[in-house]
Amino acid sequence: NHPVSESTENGTRSVVNNLSSEIPLNLDHGDPRMFESYWKKVGDRCKFTIEGHESLSYFANPKNLCWFLEPKLEEEIKKLHKMVGNVKVEEEDQFIIVGNGSSQLIQAAFYALSPLDDSNPINVVSAAPYYSCYPEMAGLLKSGLYKWGGDAHSFNDKEEPFIEMVTSPNNPSGVIREPVVNGGGAKGKVIYDLAYYWPQYTPITAKLDHDLMLFTVSKCTGHAGSRIGWAIVKDKEVAKRMIKFMEISTIGVAKESQLRAAKLLGVISDSCSNVWSPNLESFFEYGHLVLKERWEKLREVVKKNPLLSLQKYPLQYCHFFGDFSESHPAFAWMNCKNGSKDLEKILRGNKILVRGGRQFGTDPNYVRISMVCKEEEFNLFLQRLSAIKEISD
Ligand code: PMP
Repeated sequence: NHPVSESTENGTRSVVNNLSSEIPLNLDHGDPRMFESYWKKVGDRCKFTIEGHESLSYFANPKNLCWFLEPKLEEEIKKLHKMVGNVKVEEEDQFIIVGNGSSQLIQAAFYALSPLDDSNPINVVSAAPYYSCYPEMAGLLKSGLYKWGGDAHSFNDKEEPFIEMVTSPNNPSGVIREPVVNGGGAKGKVIYDLAYYWPQYTPITAKLDHDLMLFTVSKCTGHAGSRIGWAIVKDKEVAKRMIKFMEISTIGVAKESQLRAAKLLGVISDSCSNVWSPNLESFFEYGHLVLKERWEKLREVVKKNPLLSLQKYPLQYCHFFGDFSESHPAFAWMNCKNGSKDLEKILRGNKILVRGGRQFGTDPNYVRISMVCKEEEFNLFLQRLSAIKEISD
């Protein structure tokens, strides 16, 4: 979600919601304000101080391949993955690279996976409905190295190299995904965007062990404003090229943000172990419960409206919670049962701003709605959605 570019493109879209009955409610961005209530309860446990004489150097760890990665952040990332069990953490042959959000790392990965010797830009593809920022990220600079190649489903028969973005759970639809392009063999490179592979959103069913995996604090802890993402990369040459991209674009990542992220991840890990007092629940349990409740309320409202429908999710065993659960994604992927409607337009007419299916490479009768907004915004959304009695555009 690029709040800035979207708000300038369309001046009517404020990113801060005013809950007055006259003003449209913006659920277009996945701005994770939902988590603020948990962090308020955490209180002082997240505080830390940086003195004026600290963190001046460009370098965080000159001995590490990723020399701008704070050792404390690397340690907390590994600790959290081990505890959650969503990724196989290796001590060797695995490189962690920090970025200014996973957005920057996506571009670093495009650069690193593009062939050096090919005169034509490599196609970046993703199965529709895909994350709406991929086309912009791949196309913005009109690079000679890579370009947006569209829906991965339509790339199947081509005998060309490609990069496939696999978003799992998917943004916008919340489903667990695998690559869809066959026949590429060695010519295909896959980037796993695992921004939402955390227990509050989806059952943790396996320890993933892919060549290139991306995560972000934005969706894990909800601290999108800190702009911290990380890549876990197996191939040293790919890791080196991603680091090169980071050096050329921003000479690394702010230490203040990295140290804050390290603190937050540490607090999450502590909240899940028995270190904490019983009156503060584990972060993931909290996120899971809030989202579960929101999804139940939304499904109730949608059930009463014969024209609307929501994506369904299978019941799966979550190794982290030790129980069966459905997914409760950060976005609702809703559609109009009568396939010829423009649902984004209809909701806009009812003062609910969402992102329409076309932006995700699919039909306009689908929309994506943020489920991670603040409580009062979510309640207002349900109220406005319940009031829609007729679907006409
Ligand atoms: N990938 C996916 C699938 C996302 O939804 C987002 C944020 N909306 C990002 C990457 C980028 O996240 P950030 O740059 O905030 O880390």
